[in-house]
Amino acid sequence: MENLNQADLTDAFVELIRRAATQLPADMENALKKAKDREDSGSAAEGAFETILNNVEMAREHSTPICQDTGTPIFEIYYPLGVSTRRLAGYIRAAAAIATERNYLRPNAVDSLTGENSGDNTGEDFPTMHFHEWDEPAIHVDLLLKGGGCENVSTQYKLPNANLGAGRDLEGVRRVALDAVQQAQGRGCAPAVLGIAIGGDRGASYVKSKEQLFRPLEDENEVPELAELEDRLYEEANELGIGPMGFGGKTTVLGVKVGTLHRLPASYFVSVAYMCWANRRAHMDVTLQDGKTEVQYA
Ligand code: SF4
Repeated sequence: MENLNQADLTDAFVELIRRAATQLPADMENALKKAKDREDSGSAAEGAFETILNNVEMAREHSTPICQDTGTPIFEIYYPLGVSTRRLAGYIRAAAAIATERNYLRPNAVDSLTGENSGDNTGEDFPTMHFHEWDEPAIHVDLLLKGGGCENVSTQYKLPNANLGAGRDLEGVRRVALDAVQQAQGRGCAPAVLGIAIGGDRGASYVKSKEQLFRPLEDENEVPELAELEDRLYEEANELGIGPMGFGGKTTVLGVKVGTLHRLPASYFVSVAYMCWANRRAHMDVTLQDGKTEVQYA
C-alpha cells in the first residue's frame, strides 16, 4: 500500500517536462491556426504562422523542443497535508537533470556571477517552484516553460503614469498594457498571451501575472469588469498591427488574462507577463487508486 509521500515521482516529472517542452497545448495550436487563416494569402504574417505551425507539428512528432530556448521551468505544486515539499523539490530537480540529458530541455541555468552553466537546469532557485497546500487528497502540478526573449519584454508599471495618461483605475491598466505590447513589438516572439496582475507589491505582482498564463485561452474571467477588460485588450492589441514575430498582421496577441491582488494604499502596480507563441504549459495529477499511485497528464 503506497501513500503519496512514498512514491518516487522523478519519472512522472520527466514526462511532464517532456510534454511541456515538445507539445504545444491544443488551445494554443488552434488559436495559431485560426490566426493564420485570418492573414492575407501570401503575406509575411501568413508565412510566419505556417513556419510556427510546422515547427509545432514536427516537435510533437519527434518529441523535440518546440523552441531552442526551453525557458525557465516554473512549477506550481498543489499538495495535501503531510506530503513532503522537500521530497517533491528533490524529484523535480532530478527530473530537470534527466530531461536535460534527454534533450527535452536545453542547459539553461547559468550562475549569475561566474556565467557558468550548471549543465543540467538546476541551480540556485532553479527550476522555480511554488508550493501550495490544499484540501484535496491528491497532488496537482502545473508547469510553464517561460522563454527568455518574452521574459525580457515583460514589464511592470507604477501607476499613476503621467506619460501614458494612466491613472489608478482599469482605464490606466488598459493604457499601460497596450504600451507594453507596443514596446515589445516582435521582440517577445509575438503573438503573445498577456498575463496581467493588478496590485500587490512588486514581487507578488510579477508572480501573479505569470499565474494568469496557466489559464486556458477560452477561460473567462469570473469578475465581469476584468472579463470586459480582457476582451477589450485582446481586440485593441490586435489592432496595433505588429503581427507574428513583428512581421505585421492581424494577430499580435492570442489571449489576455487579468488577475488582482490587494495592495497598499500607497502603491498601484501593474505587471505584464508577456508570453510568446510558444506558451508551453502542461499539467499533472497524482492520485491514489486502490493503494497505488496513478499519474495523469493534461
Ligand atoms: S521568446 Fe519564446 S518563441 Fe521566442 S525564442 Fe524565446 S522561447 Fe522561443
